[in-house]
Amino acid sequence: FAKNQSELPYAIFNDDMLAENMLRLELGSQLRHSLERDELALLYQPMVQLCDGKTAGFEALLRWEHPEHGTVSPNTFIPIAESNGLIIEIGKWVLRKACQQAMQWQEEFGRPIMISVNVSVRQLSSTGFVEAVTETLEETKLQPECLKLEVTESFLMQDPESTIELLHQLRRIGLTIGIDDFGTGYSSLSYLHRMPLDILKVDRSFVESMFDSEKNASLIRSILALAKSLELNVVAEGVETLAQLQRLQDLGCHFVQGFYFSQPVKPECASELINHRWL
Ligand code: C2E
Ligand code: MG
Ligand code: MG
Ligand code: MG
Repeated sequence: FAKNQSELPYAIFNDDMLAENMLRLELGSQLRHSLERDELALLYQPMVQLCDGKTAGFEALLRWEHPEHGTVSPNTFIPIAESNGLIIEIGKWVLRKACQQAMQWQEEFGRPIMISVNVSVRQLSSTGFVEAVTETLEETKLQPECLKLEVTESFLMQDPESTIELLHQLRRIGLTIGIDDFGTGYSSLSYLHRMPLDILKVDRSFVESMFDSEKNASLIRSILALAKSLELNVVAEGVETLAQLQRLQDLGCHFVQGFYFSQPVKPECASELINHRWL
């Protein structure tokens, strides 16, 4: 131990970090049992289509109902699952659960319901991912056209050449591909226009700061213009106010999602939103 801590060039460890690391370790080992103990659950947030105000589908969002810590956010446990490899198993569970739910709604409502599933980098780049998706679709009998995969912008640019190939394979099956959290990564425009994508999801931070300055407003306009030239539909996430909704409508956004409409909810509640008219 250094005699005088202030002489250290930077702090190496503090109590908060220690507590955080302990929690991480604890959560990591408990996460292994979360599936067999049935502690994982999916919530569904509606995606609203602006041209007619109808529910266009749902995004499936994962929750961990921890026996002691209560509901743990995916922002906390997905990175852990990514680092210990559990994401593969968890990802398969999410995919199957979401497809089953979409199929159940389809039977109940007599029409296809679109479902969006978040997939992480490690999951996408694992061998057999395309086969696993195909198997899940066969098993649940869901049409591939009803399934959308959301991949983050940072993933796309990690290894663009193999990503392009992978996305082509998924598209060939009939899936829809969305790019999540757009604007927060560092996309190379030359690669972006070669990526087989369908949807661009504008990150919440842009919607949040839309009215802060003229500069911020034009940022979102530029993203929409870019999407148009790439022939992608745009979803704005994190819409919380009527003013944001109206502005996004004026700007020609296609879909919106956010607390202004609904929080992510349990499947029983989501069922009641399927035929809801939002506008
Ligand atoms: P994301 O895919 O960008 O999802 C949007 C997040 O914003 C969700 O947080 C959602 O609950 C939240 N949100 C939606 N509308 C609003 C709003 O109006 N205001 C605010 N402040 N927040 C809003 P959540 O559910 O905590 O998920 C966080 C992230 O965790 C997701 O970001 C996604 O990257 C990841 N995630 C969630 N479920 C899964 C999953 O099944 N698999 C993987 N790999 N990642 C997941
Ligand atoms: Mg998402
Ligand atoms: Mg997002
Ligand atoms: Mg996100």
